[in-house]
Amino acid sequence: MMDAGRHPNITLLTYSEVEHVSGYVGNFTARIRKRARSVNEELCTGCGICQEKCPRRVQDTVFEVGMGKRKAIYFSFSQSIPNLPVIDRENCLYFLKGKCRLCEKNCSVGAIDFEQEDELLDVQVGAIVVATGYAMWDPLQLPQYSYGLSPNILTGLQFERLTNSGGPTAGEILTADGKNPEQVAIIHCIGSRDENAHIYCSRFCCMYSLKHAHQVREKTGAEVFDFYMDMRAFGKGYEEFYERIQEEGITFVRGKGAEVEVLADGKLRVKGDDANLGRLVAADVDMVILATAIEPQPDAGQVASTFGLGRTPDGWFAEAHPKLRPVETSTAGVFLAGCAQGPRDVPDTVAHAGAAALEVVRLFNQGEVTISPTVAVVDAEKCVGCGECILSCPYTAIARDADGKAEVNPALCHGCGTCVATCLSGAITALHFTDEEIVAQIDGLLALTA
Ligand SMILES: Cc1cc2nc3c(=O)[nH]c(=O)nc-3n(C[C@H](O)[C@H](O)[C@H](O)COP(=O)(O)OP(=O)(O)OC[C@H]3O[C@@H](n4cnc5c(N)ncnc54)[C@H](O)[C@@H]3O)c2cc1C
Repeated sequence: MMDAGRHPNITLLTYSEVEHVSGYVGNFTARIRKRARSVNEELCTGCGICQEKCPRRVQDTVFEVGMGKRKAIYFSFSQSIPNLPVIDRENCLYFLKGKCRLCEKNCSVGAIDFEQEDELLDVQVGAIVVATGYAMWDPLQLPQYSYGLSPNILTGLQFERLTNSGGPTAGEILTADGKNPEQVAIIHCIGSRDENAHIYCSRFCCMYSLKHAHQVREKTGAEVFDFYMDMRAFGKGYEEFYERIQEEGITFVRGKGAEVEVLADGKLRVKGDDANLGRLVAADVDMVILATAIEPQPDAGQVASTFGLGRTPDGWFAEAHPKLRPVETSTAGVFLAGCAQGPRDVPDTVAHAGAAALEVVRLFNQGEVTISPTVAVVDAEKCVGCGECILSCPYTAIARDADGKAEVNPALCHGCGTCVATCLSGAITALHFTDEEIVAQIDGLLALTA
């Protein structure tokens, strides 16, 4: 991140989102909304005094996953790039009540700008890499795990904060009453491989759960119960890590942890099915870590339509071909990297992102692109300008020309034929797939089978 931030050929636009994309491979225009930080980026030195002096503390549900607080003017996290704070206008006393301005009074370079507005930037780009990642699935949707009923039932992400030296307990693994837990249960596949939530495997939870088991043993010496369906240690060195963890005295229960009950004394009873013993088992513990599923970002549908992406039935962005074109999409010049395409851990994300970057370099090195000859064409004489084809085109390849007639952009057209079927006046033809050609092919086949 630091390298990217310092690179002379990379412009980082953080706190920004792409709102609209037009154009085609080699010639896209992206409209980007750069949201107002209420801080002048040119003047701010990132000293952090504004954050220190801000009197307003709010629960941080993003970086701290509800485990800690932040100020109303804050840095997203301690080593954020760029090192600039942002004012959370929904919680800032000045925006709420018109008073305070302590950050402004204490900023020696005058960088606080309460009047700052969002900026809209139009940027010309030749290719686009979509790397919007994943969202955490909410375990409240499966009430049998009692998430939210005890502060000692954590998601894997919350446990990451708990073990982090910058987290709420400075890295100590403590229960809500400040004690080291004596027994901890880890339950895999919460919302993954479950027909009541997501049927897919979230792929990296087995390995991070093993990491969590190791951290609990190492930092607290607590007894650890690991409930799993089957262990997916698929990466290089992962099986060896699993072997090592098994020697650390962890009790592995092969069978899904089915239920967590909060007992009257605050203890947590985890019930499950031990497939090896062939019977139900239960463990009373002080802390439960739920390895919750991941899922596509909530705005994945919007992002898909902005960039002309397809989605698989489970909602992840679709690659052009699962084996042969894993980073390309159905829109030429738009590529995928990381979990936006499906669950993958960091080494696989890095490899996928590297492949996407190379595809971009390859595209630019070619200097020109070859497009398929099977595109749609409009007969302007027949076109009545009704616009139905424009609405039906899944690739936004059709627009109106100066006379209001439909015009196909061959660089965007995939020759899918939707517009041909939609056009009531028969003005559109799919080259190499005319009705006459298709009928001739059918006749040929029938002649062979006759
Ligand atoms: C609890 C937990 C522990 C883990 N531990 C490990 C581990 O030990 N080892 C390991 O290899 N992997 C681990 N992982 C997996 C790791 O988090 C993922 O492999 C990795 O984060 C995937 O990277 P990504 O860039 O694809 O997605 P993300 O990390 O999700 O990054 C996507 C980024 O895109 C941004 N974004 C989203 N939408 C938009 C938008 N519309 N516009 C602009 N920006 C947007 C997001 O804010 C985010 O910054 C763990 C995961 C979890 C949940």
